[in-house]
Amino acid sequence: MNGYQIEMNLSHERKQKPAFDNLQFGRNFTDHMFIMDYTEGKGWHDPRIVPYQPITLDPSATIFHYGQTVFEGLKAYQTKDEQILLFRPNKNMERLNRSSARLCMPQIDEELALYGLKQLLNVDRDWVPNVEGTSLYIRPFIISTEAHLGVSPSLTYQFIIILSPVGAYYKEGINPVKIAVETEFVRAVRGGTGNAKTAGNYAASLKAQEVASKSGYSQVLWLDGKENKYIEEVGSMNVFFKINGEVITPELNGSILDGITRDSIIQLLKLWNIPVIERKISIEEIYQASKEGKLEEAFGTGTAAVISPIGELFWQEKLVVNNGETGSLSKKLYETLTGIQNGSIVDPFGWRVLV
Ligand SMILES: *Cc1c(COP(=O)(O)O)cnc(C)c1O
Repeated sequence: MNGYQIEMNLSHERKQKPAFDNLQFGRNFTDHMFIMDYTEGKGWHDPRIVPYQPITLDPSATIFHYGQTVFEGLKAYQTKDEQILLFRPNKNMERLNRSSARLCMPQIDEELALYGLKQLLNVDRDWVPNVEGTSLYIRPFIISTEAHLGVSPSLTYQFIIILSPVGAYYKEGINPVKIAVETEFVRAVRGGTGNAKTAGNYAASLKAQEVASKSGYSQVLWLDGKENKYIEEVGSMNVFFKINGEVITPELNGSILDGITRDSIIQLLKLWNIPVIERKISIEEIYQASKEGKLEEAFGTGTAAVISPIGELFWQEKLVVNNGETGSLSKKLYETLTGIQNGSIVDPFGWRVLV
């Protein structure tokens, strides 16, 4: 017993579930949600599981005007023997607290948040899809709720967890994407909020994404906000390049999100004795490597896609990576990581958490 008391107010009705073999990302939500409140002076209180429902806020609530909010994203997987697994969920709760600290928001008890999540998953267990490649996407988030138009940290907050069954990111195996290097807009700057998972960063990224989509690119590769020279991330994923046998990823510099998939990839590469290095890497260096035929693979990493191979980069001209095909390392990383996550292979790091 951990002493946590979570009030249960379960739904009398159950929704009709969508077909698990044809799920769209983030469109369907389960029967319940976890919620707790924060009041300055009192701390977090009233953790509870309630039917999934709209929330009511005052129109002057600070979240609507100044965007004081943070979120997380992780997944639960169903194994062949019907167990439910989480992947390094404590990392998400830690990062949620780091994001909150940057936005002057209160810290949560990470143990309580994880316990609340497990309780919620138990209640909505039937919603963890069992079709190959599917999972239950978990979205914990905190919003500022005080009714006050002054620009200052809110005195009240809500922490909420919602769940959404999601399909395989790639219907027919992993497919390389076309990426445009963004030379006008930036996602984040050092000293800003780029290393926090907070709404404003995503609102700021939409324009570049829209422009790139119109030219037939699926994501943009972000460069640093100061010199427009060094690589930061791809879309809302971290990015890796394999050049001449060595794997390189931009170092965490304050404007890059510290991805849990990124960290897992680095640890896997180290386990396999494949050279991996975190350092500044410029777009010129990638361009040169490509021209010299040394750019072997490139891929994005994040919870949603796990690994997203890059088949083409546009910077000054079209740079094709690995003939536009998925590289062998990208494929091996994808298969290993998803295998660890869904319980089909051994987990040498103890990353899985049983619900
Ligand atoms: C969430 C996110 C990532 C990936 O993080 P994971 O923990 O691997 O899911 C990378 N970049 C940005 C901007 C993100 O929001």
